[in-house]
Parts: sequence; structure tokens; C-alpha cells
Amino acid sequence: MAEAEFTEPEIVQNTPRLGPDDRFAFHCDPSLDCFGHCCQDVSILLTPYDVLRMKQALGIDSSAFMEQYTSLAYSAEKRVPVVFLKMNEADKKCQFVGEKGCGVYANRPWACRMYPLGMAERSTSQGAAERFYFVLKEELCHGHGKGGEGAVREFIDGQGVEPYDVMQSPFRRLLAVAAERKEALTTEQCAMYYMALYDLDRFRRFVFETRFLTLFDVDEARVHAMRADDEELLELAVEWLAFSLFQQKAMRMTKSAAQQKRAKGSAASANQSSPA
Ligand code: SF4
Ligand code: SF4
Repeated sequence: MAEAEFTEPEIVQNTPRLGPDDRFAFHCDPSLDCFGHCCQDVSILLTPYDVLRMKQALGIDSSAFMEQYTSLAYSAEKRVPVVFLKMNEADKKCQFVGEKGCGVYANRPWACRMYPLGMAERSTSQGAAERFYFVLKEELCHGHGKGGEGAVREFIDGQGVEPYDVMQSPFRRLLAVAAERKEALTTEQCAMYYMALYDLDRFRRFVFETRFLTLFDVDEARVHAMRADDEELLELAVEWLAFSLFQQKAMRMTKSAAQQKRAKGSAASANQSSPA
């Protein structure tokens, strides 16, 4: 896995911070000579919800989506695997951009919706402590200063960011928990993290075709919903990882699984204390 680099600390220090009511002038339009330039040779970090929306829109399995449209790296800073939108090898363009713009516009990733706004958030395992926005001014983009001013809040509303923020909030808390830990994830734990969050159709098979539901106490109505609802399944994936990898009380084991675990623990300590 390649190592991912983040420029956030520099941006956070050197760029004016904006709140939701601060205003900036920006307008994006297919008539601009830069149309589509922002969809080339760019690092777009994908969240699990970004992947969910795009694989649904394309009507393909999550494994096929990940294989064709993403690349994987490891973030030493965030201590987890990270996923990027894969550009074409030949011209470095996003595989979704065409003459008419974005081919997955209604389901484009969070980062694409927000551009040219960036967001920095200092999250802790308890929740978001501080959030602010900043304008990314890049030469390639000619929309700055055009079209009159609008508030950050209006821009974000207009881009349909809200469902992404709602769905991504538990994921951000999970990242904060991961970043607060001293130990890195093992290779096996990285594979669990990747499968549960990004390869959601494989995670569905893991939940429904293994002993998962005999080990974890999951409400029946929720089990039913998860069979068809990717969003519900993704919420469970975050809880399972918080429980299994980061020892958070995000899930409960079933009574029988908890009893078996206790019995195994007693047998192991009896073996340890018995004379050799
Ligand atoms: S997903 Fe759409 S908006 Fe995002 S880089 Fe690709 S073409 Fe551009
Ligand atoms: S470069 Fe800027 S103005 Fe041009 S299409 Fe992209 S976001 Fe819009």
C-alpha cells in the first residue's frame, strides 16, 4: 500500500478561515474555459459513503467499483487505509469526466461537491470539536471572483452536501478514535477495515453468510433493513469496527457468544495457572 500524504496542516495554518456565514465570490459554469479542468490529475479522497453512492448509481458490486475506480494507500497520520478516486493512466483525467461534465454528478463525491471549498475539522472520539472552511484558490480554476458573493452555508446547501455530512459523521468519529491510538492496525485489521467500510457488498455477505448474527446482538428489524439498505449496513460496519478494532462499546455480543467467550477465558487462565 502506498503512503498517503495530506496537505491539511499547511492549509489549516496559511489559509483564511471561514465560518458558515462568511461570504465568498465563486461561480462554476460549463461556459467557463476551465470547465472540467478540476477533474484531472487531482487527489480525491473517498469516504465509504462516497463509494456507496457511486456504486449504487452505476449499479455495480462494490468489489468491482473498488477495482476499477479507486486506488488504495495507507495514512500514517490517520493510522488507517485510505481510498482515492483513480484517474486514467494516460491523460490523468477522472474516469467519470466527459464533454458534458461529471458523469456521476448527482452522486459525485463529497470532495467534488465542496470544491473550491475545503473543510477542516478537529474531531475527537467524543465528536467534532471545531470545524471551519477555507477557499482553495488554484490557477486552473477560473470561477473565483465571478457571479457575486454568497455565504459558505448557501454554497454547501446548493451542493447537496447535507446527507453526506450526516452519513459521514460516525465515520469521522471512527477516524478520530483510530488516530488517537498508539498502535497501528495489523495487516489483518486493515483488511477488515477496508472490507467493512468500502467493499460493502462483501461485508453484507460476511454479515449474512457467516456466524456474525449469532455472535452479535442486532435487532431483528435492523437485520431485515440491512438486507436491502446499504446505508443501514454501513452504519453497522462502523459500529462493528469501533467494537472489534478499537474496543468501543458500539455493539453487544449475544448472550451465548458472551458466555462462550467467558468460558474460553476461564479455561485459558486455568491452563496458565496449572503446573507444567
Ligand atoms: S467524480 Fe465527477 S466531479 Fe469528481 S472528479 Fe470525477 S468527474 Fe469531476
Ligand atoms: S475549474 Fe473551477 S470553475 Fe472551472 S469547472 Fe472546475 S470548479 Fe468550475
